[in-house]
Order: sequence, then C-alpha cells, then structure tokens
Amino acid sequence: MDNQSVDCGCDQIIQPLLSTNEALETLTKAAISTNKVEVVKLDDALNRILACDVRSSINVPGFDNSAMDGYAINLKEDQINTPGGFAFEITDRIPAGSTGNELSPGCAARIFTGAPIPKGANTVIMQEECELIENDTKIEIYRPISLNENIRPMGNDIVSGDIILDKGHRLKPQDIALAASVGVKTLEVFQRIKVGVFFTGDELVKPGCELKPGQIYNSNRYALVAMLNNLNCDIINLNTIKDTLKDTTDALASLKDSCDLIMTTGGVSVGEEDHVKPAVESLGELNLWRIKMKPGKPLAFGKVGNTAFIGLPGNPVSAMVTFLLFARPFIKKLQGCTHYLNTSYKVAANFDWHRSKPRREFVRVQLDQSSIPAKANQYPKQGSEVLSSMVWADGLVEIEEKTTFKQGEIINFYPLNEMMS
Ligand code: AMP
Ligand code: MG
Repeated sequence: MDNQSVDCGCDQIIQPLLSTNEALETLTKAAISTNKVEVVKLDDALNRILACDVRSSINVPGFDNSAMDGYAINLKEDQINTPGGFAFEITDRIPAGSTGNELSPGCAARIFTGAPIPKGANTVIMQEECELIENDTKIEIYRPISLNENIRPMGNDIVSGDIILDKGHRLKPQDIALAASVGVKTLEVFQRIKVGVFFTGDELVKPGCELKPGQIYNSNRYALVAMLNNLNCDIINLNTIKDTLKDTTDALASLKDSCDLIMTTGGVSVGEEDHVKPAVESLGELNLWRIKMKPGKPLAFGKVGNTAFIGLPGNPVSAMVTFLLFARPFIKKLQGCTHYLNTSYKVAANFDWHRSKPRREFVRVQLDQSSIPAKANQYPKQGSEVLSSMVWADGLVEIEEKTTFKQGEIINFYPLNEMMS
C-alpha cells in the first residue's frame, strides 16, 4: 500500500492510493465481530447470524418410515427378486402418526407416506403397482420385489449428535426449517449491530419536496438505508445534515456512543465543501483513501471515538458499489458472519477492452444466459452518477487494472441480487 499522504506543497494533500484488494483486506482485518448474543424464536431468526453451533439431539427421521402411499409387506426369503405374481393378505392399516402391529410372513399392511414401517415388514410397494383382489382383502404384485424398497431409514437426514448449523451462519428459511425439524424452538444469535447514518450536501432535497435550481433529490439516503435493512442492521438515521464542519461534527458526536458503525455518503473528497474528514479527525481518526477503482474512488475509513466510521462517496453509483464491495463485507464480519466476502462467478465478456487503465473497473452488465458461460453485456453509460444503470444491471464484472482483452475473455461477475440481500 502506498500509505503515505504526500504534501504536494499546496493545500491539497495527495491521499493514499490503494488497490481494491488492499482496501478490502484493511477493512475486514479491522472489523471485530460482535460478541453480544440474544435468543430469538424461529420466526424471528430469518437473516440473523448464529452465535453458536446447533446440534441435533434426535435422529431424523426418528424411525424407518414409508416413502410412499402403498403396502408394507413381509416378503418371504424365496420371494425376494423372483419373477413376481405373489399375493399378500392385508392385515393392517397404518396412517402417518400411528404405529402398526407386527406383520406375519406373507402379509401386507396398507401404509401411508411417513408412517412407521411395522415390525416384520421388509419392503414397501407403491399402491399403483398393487392389484386389489378377493374383495380387497389381498394384494397381488406382478414384478420382482427387492428388500427395502420405498423405506426411508431412521437417521437418513440427520443423526443424533450431528452439528446441523454452524456458528456464524446467516439464517435462511431452509436453516430455520432444519432447526425446527430437530425440535429446536429458539436460536442463539448475535445481536443486531447499530449503524448511524447521515448525508452531507446542501444540494440535497427530500423526495416529495420541490426542487429549486441547483438541487437534487437525496437518493443515497434511500440506497444506504435499504442496503443496511437488507443486512438486518438497526439504523439510526439523522437524514441530511448541513454541509458545515460544526453540523458534521455534532452529528458524529451524537451517534458515536450508541452505534457500532457510523456511515455517511458524500463530502469525502478533499474539496473545501467536504467536512467529513476534519470532523471525524476532531473526534477520532480517519484514513481517506483513493481506491484504484471505478466507480467509487474516494472512501473514508476511520474511528469516531471507539465507533468504526465508513464514509462512502457522494455519487450514487459509487456509493452503492463501494458499499457492496467494501462496507458489506465489513458489516457482515462485524455481525459475526463467517462468510463475509462477496462471491464471484465466471462469465464471458461480450465486449472488447481496448485500453489498458490504471484503475480496476466494476462495469455494470446484464447477462445473456443463452450460452455457457453466460455473456456479459455492458450498459452504455457507465458514469458514476447514472443510477438507472444499477437498475438495468444484473451485476458487476471486475476488470483488472492494466489489462486489455477481446470479446470472450472470462472475467469475475458479482450478482446484484446476491449482494443486495
Ligand atoms: P460529494 O462527494 O459530496 O462531492 O458528491 C459527489 C456527487 O454526488 C455530487 O454530484 C453530489 O451532488 C452527489 N451526491 C452527494 N450526495 C448525494 C446523495 N445523498 N444523493 C444523491 N446524490 C448525491
Ligand atoms: Mg458534497
């Protein structure tokens, strides 16, 4: 990392220049996972992070049971895998939720899906393969029969003592279902982290109000709150604050003791209207990074008192992209998530990359899935203020710095639907 700020002899300080990898590594190294836990009911566990492993105290299924509606039969030894044409007397009926009696050789029990296999039964034949004969008192089967057909054995899914969910796992519907399937009714999860947010820029206006000349609507506020909600954070939102050093410092001071993280957008360039840097520095410390990437060059990372601070750039696409690439892994690690890094997939560029560039680019693309690998088509306007490109795009492709390539090049793709959840 080119970590030294360089004084170029004027008021401008040249800020440290970082690669995306260095920025991500520095951020995630600095994120200390919470250790505050709470117990929640299964219905409140969605998207929460498990604070301890979950172990099953039972087998699932707890007993051998039928995978079909049909007949459990006691197949005699000389009937196994022989040409068929056997009749079995129906001596029992076992719906799910009840247990049957022991079957004698040559007998069958009418059985339903999920019902326990009775003692003596050694295979289950689906009803469609059985013919009822002699006034429905017997069944006849015309094909060779093997042992253990259509029997779901005890412990097939889970064995008592198995760890079924790992600490640090973000709970999805299937995880909650699995916990329920072993009889667990509450889960120990990490407490939600609290994120304080505010937005700088005297040009910003709330949606619903009329725009005066030179004003724009504050879209970052909604992007950031929605992305933090996706991550299940508790949010303290101070909305837009006046672009002065005092207001910025006051906002930070009011959040620092109650939050785990403070986030802002805008005001992290080094223009004279950008007060975030001096305000954070007056209460803590700040590194203002120029990340060698597009969109999203300036990113501020530091501390306000003991609370982490991340300042995202003001341009709406830059704010969202830097949130997804840097803040999201940072937040997930704070939350106690084991898998906090974004996952990328391989796709083929459907365009040439003619000019080698000094910065890594995250290009907004749509995927054409009609071939393998999928082809990535880029949005024609890649400006960091073109928010409609984020709505159009399926994701971002990562184009390394100092590279050129021809159409068909295999590159990393980060799906928005995954990072926006
Ligand atoms: P800044 O980083 O404050 O210099 O802002 C860079 C650009 O992003 C400017 O064009 C701002 O008007 C714009 N911008 C800053 N904050 C927001 C916001 N909350 N919503 C939409 N655009 C913004
Ligand atoms: Mg500004």
